[in-house]
Amino acid sequence: MKAMRLIPLLLVLIFVSCKEERLSEMIIYGSNIYTVDDQNSKVAGIYIRDGLIEATGTKDEISNYEKEGVEILNVGNAFVIPGLIEGHGHFSGMGNMLQNLDFLQSKSWQDIVKQVEGSVAKSETGEWIYGRGWHQDKWNKAPDHNFNTYPKHTDLSEISPDNPVILIHASGHSLFANAKAMEIAGITQETPDVGGGHIVRDENGEAIGVFEERAMGPIRKAYQEFLDKRSQQEIDAAWNKSMELAMQECLENGITSFQDAGAKFHELKRYRQMAEDGEFKIRLWTMVRHSSQEMEGKLAQYKVIDAGDGFYTCNAIKTELDGALGSYGAWLLEPYNDKPNFTGQNTTSTEEVQSIALLARNNDMQLCVHSIGDRANRETLHIFYNTVRAEEDRRWRIEHAQHLDPADFDRFLESGTIASIQAIHCTSDAPFVIDRLGEKRAREGAYPWRSLIDHGIPIVNGTDVPVEDINPMENYYASVTRKRSDTYMEFFPEQAMTRLEALRSMTIDAAFAGFQEDKKGSLEKGKYADITILDRNLLECSNSEILKTQVLYTIVDGDIAYKK
Ligand SMILES: [Zn+2]
Repeated sequence: MKAMRLIPLLLVLIFVSCKEERLSEMIIYGSNIYTVDDQNSKVAGIYIRDGLIEATGTKDEISNYEKEGVEILNVGNAFVIPGLIEGHGHFSGMGNMLQNLDFLQSKSWQDIVKQVEGSVAKSETGEWIYGRGWHQDKWNKAPDHNFNTYPKHTDLSEISPDNPVILIHASGHSLFANAKAMEIAGITQETPDVGGGHIVRDENGEAIGVFEERAMGPIRKAYQEFLDKRSQQEIDAAWNKSMELAMQECLENGITSFQDAGAKFHELKRYRQMAEDGEFKIRLWTMVRHSSQEMEGKLAQYKVIDAGDGFYTCNAIKTELDGALGSYGAWLLEPYNDKPNFTGQNTTSTEEVQSIALLARNNDMQLCVHSIGDRANRETLHIFYNTVRAEEDRRWRIEHAQHLDPADFDRFLESGTIASIQAIHCTSDAPFVIDRLGEKRAREGAYPWRSLIDHGIPIVNGTDVPVEDINPMENYYASVTRKRSDTYMEFFPEQAMTRLEALRSMTIDAAFAGFQEDKKGSLEKGKYADITILDRNLLECSNSEILKTQVLYTIVDGDIAYKK
């Protein structure tokens, strides 16, 4: 305002009239508008002005704002809720997957080979084919040529003799390569296994095409070299395309905000530029992910809150202490039930995580640590408690907080730690959790949402897209039923959330987990007009109806960004 006083009156008048032209006003009327405020109030109308919620109330109260130029959206009995927040996903990873082949829904290896064949036909000789999301446990028939449930590369090598193929496993912890990719990466029968990795070989010692953990290195490197050869123009075009696809995917799913669980400096630069250029269609909140050494002295350059009119924030750091449960990477207090004498992987040293914790504290940023096993969770809580206390309101987060020793719940409270859970992982993992942990540990501490909530520990819910599909209805269904949507297999339903808790975990509680509850997460005066409108009432419909839910409108910053 100070600067404005210096501007001649004429300019002020021009500025004001321009501003007025941009000003948009809308009223939403409906019989199922849930504000998700502290009392979970229902209202009959919302008045939106210039991207913000100006008022909520009865039909009579809101009708006072009706005048020429105010758009009126009457949604009848549709379910109106605060814009959904994806609490833990990988934004550029999702965009990348949408641009490439996606196998999350593939039901057999034969289907995947067919998808790759389609891509090969459209590609130039030598161009890499990239895909992600295959999972042998999701196939309803075994591959024609297989070894220990894994497919052999033969089929892929036959249909793609000249194009290297790299297919990342759904977990991200292994990949599949065809003969051409292995040739370029220099993999031969003599290539030894590296520490922390494994090249899967058949009875003759031939690599079948599957590379686990660190053994993925040479194939990934060869692919990266191909990517690096692209011109700047090609790199920019691919980035823009992936961003466009990722934003569209969010809007189609009713998601107005996305919490990105780990971006590199070069991505953060691009995000910030996008925000400043007004290119974001959803709001992005990111965690920066680098080693303590790489971040030392650099964080101030990247830390930013509400850039581009509240569309971009980077005020958190991501690191991890262990791997995933399925691949025995979760770091456990006691050995695996189905791998005696083995307690999992500590992937980043506790000293390094402690150094990162100090960086987070000194830069006044949130710290988000990936911890899956009970040992990793305990170590993380120890580091948090060493560095911050609940009274300081730092809102540090454990990403996944998947398997906990009940003795550690109090430490969450003492350190003010948030459990960042992904409900859909529970039902995806359900078929193997008891094998890994045994019945007792699985029942008492695996995906223990009810216990967390009853202890008063804040939670935030996400999907970990592209590890899982971003679909919030699948995630909501898993949250309240703990059942798989395909086989209806159930995993300790006593730990389910209530309908309202699950809704809060994707709205106001998610906003809280990013220090944004004063701006979003509920439909209240002064907050962003980010609103999701669904075709049925998620608080009242039957369980099976949840999965049929359609997004009718996604409203971001007061504008209809998606309409069915
Ligand atoms: Zn993740």
